[in-house]
Amino acid sequence: MKVLVTGGAGFIGSAVVRLAVERGHEVINLDALTYAACLDNVAPVARSSLYTFEQADIRDRAALDRILLSHNPDAILHLAAESHVDRSIDGPAAFIDTNITGTATLLDAARAHWEAQGRPESFRFHHVSTDEVFGTLGDTGLFTEDTPYDPRSPYSASKASSDHLVRAWHETYGLPVLLTNCSNNYGPYHFPEKLIPVVILKALAGEPIPVYGTGENVRDWLYVEDHADALLTVLEKGQVGRSYNIGGHNEMRNIDLVRAICGLLDERRPDASPHADLITFVTDRPGHDMRYAIDASRIQNELGWTPSVTVEEGLARTVDWFLDNEEWWRALQKRDGVGRRLGTKA
Ligand code: NAD
Repeated sequence: MKVLVTGGAGFIGSAVVRLAVERGHEVINLDALTYAACLDNVAPVARSSLYTFEQADIRDRAALDRILLSHNPDAILHLAAESHVDRSIDGPAAFIDTNITGTATLLDAARAHWEAQGRPESFRFHHVSTDEVFGTLGDTGLFTEDTPYDPRSPYSASKASSDHLVRAWHETYGLPVLLTNCSNNYGPYHFPEKLIPVVILKALAGEPIPVYGTGENVRDWLYVEDHADALLTVLEKGQVGRSYNIGGHNEMRNIDLVRAICGLLDERRPDASPHADLITFVTDRPGHDMRYAIDASRIQNELGWTPSVTVEEGLARTVDWFLDNEEWWRALQKRDGVGRRLGTKA
């Protein structure tokens, strides 16, 4: 397959690019290179003859038309987005622009391209979204593909809007789309402003480890390389017009996750006192969703996909990766806003 991946210099997109090239697919990585991008994430495949990079913005229709015409991809795997909830609280406009207007621009460019090619049945527009569109859960229950949308942050509202646009382009124009909604990802190349890297890097620096609120919030952690595998599975085998939830079967309270990471660091980089002594509870995120949990039975039953990495294994691999790749994260820590508390302007 020849796949155009948007956002392929970001955290999840780069995992998809690496895996797709490894599996012999031809990949065009389209990325605007915002603050969240890092081309080092794709260094392992950058010299492959199967890989091409195009710096472009998904809001730039002329650039999209040119790139689609010159590469003529069989599929678009759309991951480009503004992705950090805290930044969406302080500055929602960028989320509306990229996640909603950008997705609409990309959808329409894809439709024009698909129609110019004679509407091939095999073409796919695969939109990557989040479980956050479903809102928040109490102590029990799981998000299914039929859970009503109830987004509560500017980020999740912008992603929900983009999901609706994708369905509209399918229903109205017949564009062959696929949708996936996944839980929180973690793993190698995770940008250092997100929870797991923050915990690892604060602990290594001997600085207070910030935990929002009481740390009771529950997330279902999905190892990023498992997610990349799930995305390629849906792209290859998913039913057009259908959406699939992707989860890791790894529900954990934030405070337990943070303690587990501290324990891994105690084993690998022992300090005078346990790293967990650095845990500091800070003011909660406004509108902080309490619990996300995914029912991933559709992708398991219909496409035969299940996650392969337990949270224990995945966290150990992630901590080891950060210990081995200090040059990578030190460079990104210099970027605007990284290392500062964001999302307090509500
Ligand atoms: P990321 O922030 O690490 O990467 C986003 C990438 O998109 C960056 O490389 C950035 O340069 C690029 N980008 C941003 N705006 C762009 C624009 N206007 N034009 C072109 N490129 C642009 O994000 P991520 O964590 O890898 O998430 C990827 C996708 O998965 C997003 O759509 C996100 O909503 C979704 N998602 C992420 C998670 C998660 O846990 N990280 C969970 C569920 C869903």
